[in-house]
Amino acid sequence: MTISSSKIFLPGSTVGVMGGGQLGRMFAIAARKMGYRVHTFSPDEDTPTGQLADREVAARYEDAEAVRDFARGIDVLTFEFENVPVQSVEWAAECCVVRPAGRVLHLCQHRLREKEFLSGAGLPLPRFAHVSNIEEFKAAVEKIGTPSVLKTAAFGYDGKGQKKIEQGADLDAAWIPFEGEGAVLEQWVSFEKEISVIVARGIDGQMKTYPVCENAHRNHILDVTVVPAGVTVEVAARARHLAEIVAERLDLVGLLAVEMFLLPDGGLLINELAPRPHNSGHFSFDASITSQFEQQLRAVCGLPLGSTELLGPVAMANLLGDLWSDGEPDWCAAAAFPEVKIHLYGKSEARPGRKMGHLVGFGADTNEARERVCAAKKALTPWLS
Ligand code: AMP
Repeated sequence: MTISSSKIFLPGSTVGVMGGGQLGRMFAIAARKMGYRVHTFSPDEDTPTGQLADREVAARYEDAEAVRDFARGIDVLTFEFENVPVQSVEWAAECCVVRPAGRVLHLCQHRLREKEFLSGAGLPLPRFAHVSNIEEFKAAVEKIGTPSVLKTAAFGYDGKGQKKIEQGADLDAAWIPFEGEGAVLEQWVSFEKEISVIVARGIDGQMKTYPVCENAHRNHILDVTVVPAGVTVEVAARARHLAEIVAERLDLVGLLAVEMFLLPDGGLLINELAPRPHNSGHFSFDASITSQFEQQLRAVCGLPLGSTELLGPVAMANLLGDLWSDGEPDWCAAAAFPEVKIHLYGKSEARPGRKMGHLVGFGADTNEARERVCAAKKALTPWLS
């Protein structure tokens, strides 16, 4: 039996977070600021979230007793990472309130389920086909055409488990790494911009959306976000409305990021959903009346949602482990930019592609904010220039 609920959790309550990364870390900061206690559960120790939590449990998600024990010690459970096994969420739900519900995670942790949900709801998305073997893959290439992109159905993020299929590609060779796994072939989209919208939905169905983010990726990983996005008022309104429809159809309680492609004709296609705070929403920690992390807390605790108003044009640049390849970055040089804030996640090991921190920069407009944040990032590694 699961604990159903319109229950409200006031400051002083204990919120559990599954996952131990930077999203949980910033959530923990927001929650502790408002007088909540935070417990975190992940397979690792000394995690970015654990360093800021009241209690860190290091155990396997598949350990039923450890999950139940963790859930007994908290009032409400949420997530900073959606790829938690659904079975673990069910064990937790026997002992505490879980928001968002396990079925939302189940849907968002699998590309095919997510795409079928979106297309079933009549929402716009790139053309796609499910492929589970080489014959289906070849038939899908016939149907979808090239270029297209083959993606694993489960557990993909930051472009992992993806292969672009060009015209005349050797399909047998391309299929080899996907053998034995479910996959999705997707139409390649010649987009004008990549944007995202973060929406929060409370226990009473109240919703708040953040201003639209404009995202630039490098090697499939988010590089720079600027807010507000350089799109028309009409496109921004449509993007925010689309995100609200998705949250409503999911009957979400919590936070949802909706990544979209903006087409040259102004059309929008939904690329991906994440039922948690999102990298593109990091700007909100410094630049919004209510950060995405505080909003997640408010939503999952049943409090009224806060204002998503932007305090000023802003840009965010990710700091990946690659910046450490020749030694410690020059933090003093970045700190010398007075309009730039430094965020670091407390990770001791810097690996290429690993998200270690980010910078947030302000300006009179998004161009100035972007220039400042990029200049501060460049100053971190003077030996590269
Ligand atoms: P994903 O993990 O699906 O969000 O993909 C990571 C990045 O790859 C996206 O942010 C895009 O930059 C690119 N990408 C993914 N799918 C497509 C597509 N169908 N067409 C064009 N670019 C794509």
